[in-house]
Amino acid sequence: MASKNSKTATRLAHGGRTSNDHYGFINTPVYRGSTVLFENTAALKKRDARYTYGIHATPTTDSLTDLITELEGGAGTVLAPSGMASITTALLALVEAGDHVLITDSVYRPTRRFADKVLAALGVEIEYYDPLIGAEISHLFKENTRVLFLETPGSQTMEMQDIPALVTAAKAHKGRREIYTIVDNTWATALFFRALDFGVDITLQAGTKYIGGHSDIMLGATTANERTWPLLSRTHTALGMCPGTEEVFLGLRGIRTMEVRLRQHMASALLIAAWLRERPEVSEVLHPGLPGGPGHDIWLRDFKGSCGLFSIIFEPVNEACVDAFLDTLDLFGLGYSWGGFESLAIPFDPSTYRSATEWVGKGPAVRFHIGLEDPDDLIEDLDSGFSSLARCRDGKN
Ligand SMILES: *Cc1c(COP(=O)(O)O)cnc(C)c1O
Repeated sequence: MASKNSKTATRLAHGGRTSNDHYGFINTPVYRGSTVLFENTAALKKRDARYTYGIHATPTTDSLTDLITELEGGAGTVLAPSGMASITTALLALVEAGDHVLITDSVYRPTRRFADKVLAALGVEIEYYDPLIGAEISHLFKENTRVLFLETPGSQTMEMQDIPALVTAAKAHKGRREIYTIVDNTWATALFFRALDFGVDITLQAGTKYIGGHSDIMLGATTANERTWPLLSRTHTALGMCPGTEEVFLGLRGIRTMEVRLRQHMASALLIAAWLRERPEVSEVLHPGLPGGPGHDIWLRDFKGSCGLFSIIFEPVNEACVDAFLDTLDLFGLGYSWGGFESLAIPFDPSTYRSATEWVGKGPAVRFHIGLEDPDDLIEDLDSGFSSLARCRDGKN
């Protein structure tokens, strides 16, 4: 058993294990099931059994949620069938009609869609704010502000938010009700940023990414502190949010090796980001872990590490030449999501959907996920991509 003082890698290896309940086998098996039988009517009527119905919890889900709660230092964790479902659960747990919700303009785009389409239709007032606003956020608070939604660094554009300043402002506000803070912590995970220690109320992550780690599951995990846990737990049950048992098992399998994987993602991504920064075709590297890069000071102050995900902005160049760059890449796949063992690249353009701030990239932008391949091979691959870009730019084909 991991002790109170155990380091993260030890907790990941030992947390959530209940081997004695499984004949000594190390891993909690996949409990498949809907109905749970009670011994007699008295037991059924007492309603105090840990397991009552498949939707609520099984020993398999408990193993994963116990481990995540321990890592996050929270009051409890609930699972969802995707990271996006974790986001909707957290928001629905805290808001009601008439509330005002502030969301960072750098937010994961589907979160924006949920807020604009679903929350707004339910009578919730949605407002976006500059991710770099810091303590000035207090000027946006209203009488009915209920949730301050954070994501750091921001999806694709990688702005580091000043979480301590934002949380302090939220706690100081005297409105109709207290303001709760939610952070989408998918980039850093609990390993690199323990959000609840910074006063955030609910932290969530797409388990699809680094918990799974192998691009073979969809999963989400949401962890609450004491004051929001009753709300989160109640809403999670009411919504019927239960991931498939196989996915939970794969989440458990993945999370055991998360620390060692993340350390490699971090090292390779920093190496490649530094290499990219020296390229004449690149105008800016958006990686908060990179010394001198945007957000690095805040990252250094608050975070313990960085992952495999960062972006670059090219020098002004025809978009077709960026396509040529991407199409030449052999080891980098073109596809959505990230967090697996493989490297990925995706072009993006936030100027089309930002609303509180204007995105003015000097040139086209691409987001990379650096996987667990050898970074030398990845650099060679990128190098051939730049050759294609140059040929395209110079009109050679
Ligand atoms: C991928 C992602 C999500 C959503 O996770 P899914 O499991 O794909 O639904 C949410 N937030 C961020 C920052 C992500 O990168």
